[in-house]
Amino acid sequence: MALIIFDCDGVLVDSEPLANRVLNEHLRAVGLDLALDESTALFTGLSMNSSVALIEARLGRRLPARFVPDLRAATEHAFRGSLQPVSGIASVLERLRSPSCVASSGIHSKIRRSLELTGLRRFFPDGRIFSAEDVSRGKPAPDLLLHGASRLGFAPADCIVVEDSRPGVLAARAAGMRVFGYAERTPSRVLAAAGATVFTEMAELEALLPD
Ligand SMILES: [Mg+2]
Repeated sequence: MALIIFDCDGVLVDSEPLANRVLNEHLRAVGLDLALDESTALFTGLSMNSSVALIEARLGRRLPARFVPDLRAATEHAFRGSLQPVSGIASVLERLRSPSCVASSGIHSKIRRSLELTGLRRFFPDGRIFSAEDVSRGKPAPDLLLHGASRLGFAPADCIVVEDSRPGVLAARAAGMRVFGYAERTPSRVLAAAGATVFTEMAELEALLPD
């Protein structure tokens, strides 16, 4: 029996357009003026720590202390009004026979709130939610995926990861896990080049996953 490890943002909840719009506005406010598609390509799938390191490298200076809490609050506000589940994912989770969990670059409170807002929390009890907060290195490092698998008693070779971003696919490959890449918002060629088996509709994922 395989463990199916779901990424949260972009795989379970359709948060990337909302989160990337808020991030883009906050980047502009600190002097990093990027087109929305450019900042989306740069930051999608990164943990907050990895994002901050990248922003500071681009700016050549430290971010103000309020940047992260302000960004988190604004993102949460945007989610509260309009966060939706990814199209077709509820049906995949309803029919899933294999054990599953979430491994997300978000913090625990954000993951739980996102799942609650979209009606998906019932599929993931407390012991099946893993966050970048639980490990020292977020994606694209394999640490979070290895941590979740180990906590649930699965070897990496018995895990299947469902991801939608390049850092997430790289994390899965570095962990020695199979990975299915949902190419709704990241180009198929980017996910395939990182090592994913690509699919474009959640209905296809049902056929890829083991019975
Ligand atoms: Mg994602």
